[in-house]
Amino acid sequence: MSKKVTIIGGGLIGLSCAYYLQKEGNEVTVIERGDITSGTSFGNAGYVSPSHFTPLASPGIVAQGLRWMLSSTSPFYIKPRLNADLIRWMFAFWGKANRKTVEENIPPLNNILHLSRQLTSDMKNEFGNQFRMAEVGCFMLYKSAETEKHEMELAKEAAHLGIETKIFTGQQVQDMEPEVEVVTKGGVLYPIDCHLHPGDFMRTLKTHLQKVGVKLQLNTEVTGFEKNGSVVKSVITDKGKFDCDELVIASGSWLPVVTKQLGIHILLQAGKGYSITYENVEKNLHYPAILVDKRVAMTPMGKDLRMGGTMEISGINKNVLIKRAQAIYSGATSYYPNLNLAFPSVDKIWSGLRPLAPDGLPYIGRHSKYNNLILAGGHAMIGLSLCAATGKLVEEMIGNKPTSIDVSAFNVERYN
Ligand SMILES: Cc1cc2nc3c(=O)[nH]c(=O)nc-3n(C[C@H](O)[C@H](O)[C@H](O)COP(=O)(O)OP(=O)(O)OC[C@H]3O[C@@H](n4cnc5c(N)ncnc54)[C@H](O)[C@@H]3O)c2cc1C
Repeated sequence: MSKKVTIIGGGLIGLSCAYYLQKEGNEVTVIERGDITSGTSFGNAGYVSPSHFTPLASPGIVAQGLRWMLSSTSPFYIKPRLNADLIRWMFAFWGKANRKTVEENIPPLNNILHLSRQLTSDMKNEFGNQFRMAEVGCFMLYKSAETEKHEMELAKEAAHLGIETKIFTGQQVQDMEPEVEVVTKGGVLYPIDCHLHPGDFMRTLKTHLQKVGVKLQLNTEVTGFEKNGSVVKSVITDKGKFDCDELVIASGSWLPVVTKQLGIHILLQAGKGYSITYENVEKNLHYPAILVDKRVAMTPMGKDLRMGGTMEISGINKNVLIKRAQAIYSGATSYYPNLNLAFPSVDKIWSGLRPLAPDGLPYIGRHSKYNNLILAGGHAMIGLSLCAATGKLVEEMIGNKPTSIDVSAFNVERYN
């Protein structure tokens, strides 16, 4: 039965939900404060990566994080603030950063990553490759023996999950990158990973949704809700009221801000990251690569090259700390010394906010406080990797169908 579904948020998650919901005949409206031309879902590294099966909150991260907090160029930083939400989030994060939780969380993460990887290929087949998707895998490159050991352990874990890896020496990596010099001890390739241009992906989705009749209510800010007992009747915005049979909140790093207006508290912090994009690079990489020692992500996107990184938990702001952006650039040039690309002016450095749940799992599911409310957020550093599966799962929930995978680990009330 067709339903009137309103989605708050026009990022990767909101648009993917709209895509699957419209496909099944629902009447869909997306309410978005911006105009779907920029934001976190546009400037990210573009990986669709089943290799990212380990959540951010993992053993060692807390001690490492504390050490890194002393450095202005470190790749992970929590700005100390007397903020009750941050303190609650940090306690939950520390509580989850242990082997037991990681072992519990890897299987559901692995399941949703694989579902999404397949669905992303299906989208490419449906739309034609309008978003520069390349299915060549992704490298984890390392310089130190310690990082190499860590990557070998991860490769073993991957094998337990049935994920193929290929291990290469530094020379072999160099042979696979004929256009640029690569300084690395070696690398692990995850052939199942793929990458694409997230801006092109977003534009493809936006154009498609407009064409098939999804109402994109842009430049419109959600300011409240009209409720009738345990039903959200309508969404109130600065441009008027929108009625709904079902409501999906997919407002990224603003998830807690929006749910608060419904009396729902969600543990989530924004994790800021930066990227720098070079267009029409003469000699480009053939493979995307995570430079593990430096925590830098390199992605060739057709003729363009993007480098990104840094995780700054410093609230909701877009400020660029130039030293951290420089650390991304110097990390990249330490692996690829002859890239011949200059460090850009600060206005060319993009920043975006990853929505971080404390345990590294997304929130996907109904909330028991209302009969017609679904939350879809907290996708952290894998929102592109998981958007297709999230959209499909949300459509299945709204259609009262069995879900493609077990979603209990993504319970939106798991911190209550
Ligand atoms: C440097 C960097 C690199 C990354 N690399 C990758 C990668 O390689 N692979 C990967 O899978 N992921 C990656 N990510 C993560 C990914 O970009 C995010 O997980 C994803 O974009 C989150 O999508 P979203 O739709 O939840 O949020 P968003 O894209 O932030 O969308 C939420 C939308 O909600 C809107 N909104 C909020 N409040 C309101 C309101 N009150 N009214 C109306 N609208 C509202 C906002 O305007 C926004 O457009 C990276 C992120 C960063 C920062």
